[in-house]
Order: sequence, then C-alpha cells, then structure tokens
Amino acid sequence: MDSAFWDGLLASYQWQLSLYTALGIMAVTVLGKLALRMVPTVREAGKLNAETYRKKMENPRYAANQRWNRKWGLFFWVVIFAGILPFTLTAEPQPIWQILLDCFVILMVYDFFYYLVHRFLFHDAGFLGGPLIWVHAVHHRQHNPCREDSSFIHPIEVAMGLGLYVACIFVLSRFMGNFHVATIVITWVAFSQINLHNHDLWTVDRFPFKYLNTMSVMHHNHHARFTGGNFATISLLYDWMFGTLDYGAGYKGAEYTPKPKKTPEGAGMV
Ligand SMILES: [Zn+2]
Ligand SMILES: [Zn+2]
Repeated sequence: MDSAFWDGLLASYQWQLSLYTALGIMAVTVLGKLALRMVPTVREAGKLNAETYRKKMENPRYAANQRWNRKWGLFFWVVIFAGILPFTLTAEPQPIWQILLDCFVILMVYDFFYYLVHRFLFHDAGFLGGPLIWVHAVHHRQHNPCREDSSFIHPIEVAMGLGLYVACIFVLSRFMGNFHVATIVITWVAFSQINLHNHDLWTVDRFPFKYLNTMSVMHHNHHARFTGGNFATISLLYDWMFGTLDYGAGYKGAEYTPKPKKTPEGAGMV
C-alpha cells in the first residue's frame, strides 16, 4: 500500500483532540447536571425518575439488561473516540455562528436518518416490513418509560444508533471540513440529553417547561404501543413533514383508541 496514504492518514489522526472531546463531554454533562439541579422542577422530575428506576432495578431481568448495555456502551465509546472521531476534529478557532450552525446540521442530518431507520427497520411502518423489530422490541418492553429507559435497549440498537450518529459526523466532516472540538462536545451532550429527556417521566406543563413536556409526552405516546408514531428523536420536524406525529391516538393511517392510563408511573416493567 502507498506509504504516503498511511502517512496522510496518520497525520490527520488527532487523538489528543478526541481525548479533549471526551473529557469536555464528561465535564459539561456533570456541570450541567449540577446547574440544572438548582431548578426545583428539574430536581423534582429527577427524583421521580430516579425512584422509578430504582424500583425497576429490583427486577433482575431489567437490571441484567441495563448492565449488558453499559458494558457494550463502554466498548462503543472506545471504538468511537479512538477509531473515528480523531479523523474529524480540529482546534482551529472558528466563529461561534459556525459552531452553532455545524451543531444544527449534524443533529438534523442524524435525525433524518434515524427517523428512516426507526420507522422502516425497527418498526413495520413501511414497505420494508420492519426487519429489525426483534432488536427494537427490547426497548418497547417499557410502555411507560423513565429517564434511564433510554438505555434499556438491545446492544445492536446502541451500535446502530451511535454508529449512525458518528457516521453522520464523519461523512459531514468530509464535506464541511473538520469540526471544532466544541461542536462535537455540544452535539454529543445535546444528543444524549435529548434522548434521556424523551424518556423522562415529566409532569409539569407550564412556561418555561412546555417544550420539555411536549417532547416527553410525544415519546411516551410512541412507547404506549408498538404501532405508534413519533419516530424521530431530536425534534418532531420529520414526523410533522412525513405525517407521523402521534398525539396519543396514532398517526394518519394507523389511528387507534388510547386506553385510559391505569398506573401513572412505573408501568411497563419487564
Ligand atoms: Zn420505536
Ligand atoms: Zn424510547
């Protein structure tokens, strides 16, 4: 093989920047959590979700799945931060607008492809017949999820979700140039916090929490039954565009009559 090719590849391998990115993600996550705890509504929601999670963890099968996933999650992190991100990063100063625009593009491109994967591979909502329903069925065992249920999934789904996300970053970096470390820190934290929050048991529907309430309610509608809509995860844009918004009674062509809720929380245990 051409040694210039390998030299070029090695020269663009920025492992230090990838390490800073990982540390930045951890720091922003921890500091953000501490800051948000000062907001009483967020603190209350945190308590409700932690208590629900604690009860669910008393079920050995539930706990086994969570452990299974954490183990694989660590492996995926190593692959991503050692093998892929080092080729996509730069520390060259960039204007704030560019960083924010890059964040927006990465998240919205990812959300588009996730929508397709979720709707057509994980669910039988199209011509493909849902070939990976058996993988996604694990996540849907939780009919009324709590925050930590965002990681109650089959490791294949973790690999596909994270893989798709990192593939978006890699491919976009080929077209848009390498992304600033701050861009990847912001998008990564946003990506994981949005995914976590979609599963939050959330009870407050007043300003300034209305958007948070909507996102939680909409994803809970998705979990309420396997034929529900709301397939995107970052925003509701693609569900709106493709007519799969589900306000609790299905989406156009897949409507249903919702059952009255019997238990407000902790339902849907394994
Ligand atoms: Zn689903
Ligand atoms: Zn979910």
